[in-house]
Amino acid sequence: MLLPTENLDRVLGDRTAKAFAKHLGLKTVGDLLEHFPRRYSTRGELTPIAQIPIGEAVTVVADIQDVRERRIKGKAGSILEIRITDGDGTMSLTFFNQAWRAKDLKPGMRGLFAGKTSIYNGQIQLAHPDYELFPESIADEDAKAWAELPIPIYPASSVVTTWMIQRAMGIVLDTLAPLEESLPKELIARHGLLSADDAVRKIHRPAKAHEWMAARDTLRYHEAFSLQATLLKRKRLAAAEESTPRVATADGVLAAFDASLPFNLTAGQIAVGNEIADDLARPHPMHRLLQGEVGSGKTLVALRAMLVVADAGGQSALLAPTEVLASQHFASIERTLGHDLAKRLGLTLLTGQMPAAEKKRALLQIVSGKAQIIVGTHALIAEAVSFFDLGLIVVDEQHRFGVEQREALRLKGKLPPHVLTMTATPIPRTLAVTVFGDLEVSTLTELPGGRRGITTHVVREQNPAQVARVWARVAEEVAAGRQAFVVCPRIDGDDAPEEAQPDLDDETVEDATKPKRPLAAAVAVAEALRSNPSVGKLRIGLMHGRQATEEKTSVMAEFAAGRLDILVSTTVIEVGVDVPNATVMVVLDAERFGISQLHQLRGRVGRGGHAGLCLLLSAAEDATLALERLEAVASTTDGFKLSEIDLELRREGDVLGSTQSGGRSALKLLRVVRDAELIQTARSDAAEILAADPTLERHPLLAADLARIDEAAQENLAKS
Ligand code: ADP
Ligand code: MG
Repeated sequence: MLLPTENLDRVLGDRTAKAFAKHLGLKTVGDLLEHFPRRYSTRGELTPIAQIPIGEAVTVVADIQDVRERRIKGKAGSILEIRITDGDGTMSLTFFNQAWRAKDLKPGMRGLFAGKTSIYNGQIQLAHPDYELFPESIADEDAKAWAELPIPIYPASSVVTTWMIQRAMGIVLDTLAPLEESLPKELIARHGLLSADDAVRKIHRPAKAHEWMAARDTLRYHEAFSLQATLLKRKRLAAAEESTPRVATADGVLAAFDASLPFNLTAGQIAVGNEIADDLARPHPMHRLLQGEVGSGKTLVALRAMLVVADAGGQSALLAPTEVLASQHFASIERTLGHDLAKRLGLTLLTGQMPAAEKKRALLQIVSGKAQIIVGTHALIAEAVSFFDLGLIVVDEQHRFGVEQREALRLKGKLPPHVLTMTATPIPRTLAVTVFGDLEVSTLTELPGGRRGITTHVVREQNPAQVARVWARVAEEVAAGRQAFVVCPRIDGDDAPEEAQPDLDDETVEDATKPKRPLAAAVAVAEALRSNPSVGKLRIGLMHGRQATEEKTSVMAEFAAGRLDILVSTTVIEVGVDVPNATVMVVLDAERFGISQLHQLRGRVGRGGHAGLCLLLSAAEDATLALERLEAVASTTDGFKLSEIDLELRREGDVLGSTQSGGRSALKLLRVVRDAELIQTARSDAAEILAADPTLERHPLLAADLARIDEAAQENLAKS
C-alpha cells in the first residue's frame, strides 16, 4: 500500500511527533496510518463508576457535577478537583496546577474520561485523566449515532494513549490526499475489496461496525498480497543470480567425515543431503530451508553441506542467534568433527563478547581463508569481518526468523553465497509460505534409529500424591542408571521469569496463567530437592543463565559424565544439550513455557536407546487455556501439529521473531493460521501477476510499493 512518507512532525507538531516516535516507533504519516486499532469498543464496554476497580486503566462516560479549585496547604500551586457522575456512581478527577482546564471542563458537560484509578482520601479518583468532551449542543439523533460509533482502541503506551492516537489519526485523515491504488484492478474486483483509500479511512474512522470489518478484510488482503509478491519477486531475482558452484571431491573432508561417522545417516538425512549437494553444484545461490523434528539431526546435515563447500575450497559460516547458542554449536561441531578434522578445517568461533585479541585472531583466520568453518553470532555481519571466499551461510534461526536478517551475510561473498536456513522447531506450511515464501523447503521427519520416543504426562499440583509419585519416578530412573532434568521457569526468588517465554496474548496470560504463588526457582528447587524423601540422597547439580560460562560448562560436563543424577536448571538446557543417558525431564510450572519451547525441551530426553519420560507439573486450573496447552503437548510428539497449535495461540510478532528485529516483517493484520487460505490465494494472485508482467512495467504503482517494502527491509537490516 502506497502511504505518505512525510514525517509526522509536519502534521502533528514537534512534541507530539517526538512522543509518537519514542513510545510507539511511529515516525511517518504512513507509519501512523499503519498503526491499526487492536479492537473497537462500544459504550457498552465502558466501565460503570459504581463498579470501578482500583489501580486499573478505565474509561468512563460521565457528566461533570462540579468543579473546585483548591490551594495546596503551605505550598504554591493549586488542585483542580472535578466530580463526575454517570448516574449511579461518582468519582473525582484531579489536576495539579492546571486550573486553566476549568475553562474546558464545565459543570453539566458530558464526556469520556480515561486513566488509571487510585484512592485518595477514601475517594476513587483519576489523576490527570485523558478526556474527550461530547459536543455541547448535540441533537438526540446525533447523540445516538455518536454513542454507537465504534471507538478504535489502539496499541498504546502509558504516555501515548489510545486517545492521543485517535486524535492524531483524525488530524492526519482530515488532510490526507486520496491514496493511490497499488493493487491491480482485476484483483480488487475479483475479491470485492474496498479501495485502498476507503479501507485506510474506514479502519480508523468507521461509522458502523461493518465498515471496519470490510476495511480490515481489504487491508489483510493487501498485506498478504504485498508479502507474497515481495517473496516471489525475491525468489525470481535470486534464481537468476550467479553464484560459485561447489562440489565435494571423492577423497576430501566430506568423504573422510562420512567414513568416520559412528552411525548410519537416516534415509531423510541422505535425501536432504543430496538435495543440498545438487543445489550447491549449481551456478545459482541455494536458498533452502531445512526443518525437522527436534533431534532429527539437522545440524549434521548442515555440517555435511559445509564440508562440501570446504572440499571445494570455500568457507562456510554458521550464524546463531545468541552467544550461548554460538558457543554450543561450536563445541558440538568440534566434537562431531573430531579434533583432527576440526583443526584441518580451521574451525573458528566469532562472537561479539570475545576478548579483543582472540577476536583479532579469528578475524585473521577468516580473512586469510584458513578458517573454513566459522561459527558466530551477529558479530559475523559486522563490517570489520571480511571473508576470503564465503561459499555457504547456515542460519540457525531458532525462533527468530526475519526475512531481512538473512540478507546481511550474503553481501559478504564475492558472489552471493549459498544459504541454508535451519529452524529449530518444525513450522507449519502456512508459516513456511508466509515467512519463507522465497525458499525451497527440505524436511527431516524421522528420528535417527534407536530412539525410543518420549511419553509426556501432565501432573496436577493440586494432587500431592501425584506430585510425590513424580519424584519417586525420578528416583527409579536413577536407580536404573539413568539421569534426570528438572526445569524451572526462573533462577531465584526475586527475578522475573525471563527465561521462560509465556507466549500468549497479554490478555490471556493475565487470565489463564497468573501465578497464584511464586514460580519455581532453580536455586530454591535444587535446595528443596536435597531434603525430598525420594531424591534427597541423589547427586543434584544446578545450572542457570547467571552462572559464569566456566561454571555452566563444568556442571554440564559433570552431568554428561554421569557424575550428577539430577540437573536442576532453567531453559539454558533448551538447545544443544545432548546427554543420551538422561531419560526423565520434570518441568515445573510448565504452563509458563510456550508449546514449542516445551517440545524443544523434552527433545533433550530419550535421545539414547531408552524411552524418554517428560512430566509437566502445573497448578493450572481445570478447563483453562493453560491446561489445554499442556494437554496438547502431552497428546502428541508431532512437532508440526504442535506448532500449528502454538501459532494459533501465540502473538504473530513473537512467532515471526520480528519484535526484536524491528517492524517491517512483523505481520500487522494477518494471522498465519486463521488467514492461511487468504495467504494462499494472495500467493497465487501474486504469481499470476508476476508471470504475466515479470518486471511489473504494466503495474508501476505495485512496483513502487514492492520497492518500498524492499527498501524498508534493507533499512531494518542496516539497523540490526
Ligand atoms: P536437531 O538439530 O535436528 O535437533 P541434532 O543435529 O542436534 O538434531 O542431532 C541430535 C543428535 O543425534 C546428535 O547427538 C547427533 O549427533 C545425533 N545424530 C544425528 N544423526 C544421527 C544418525 N543418523 N544416527 C544416530 N545419531 C544421529
Ligand atoms: Mg540442533
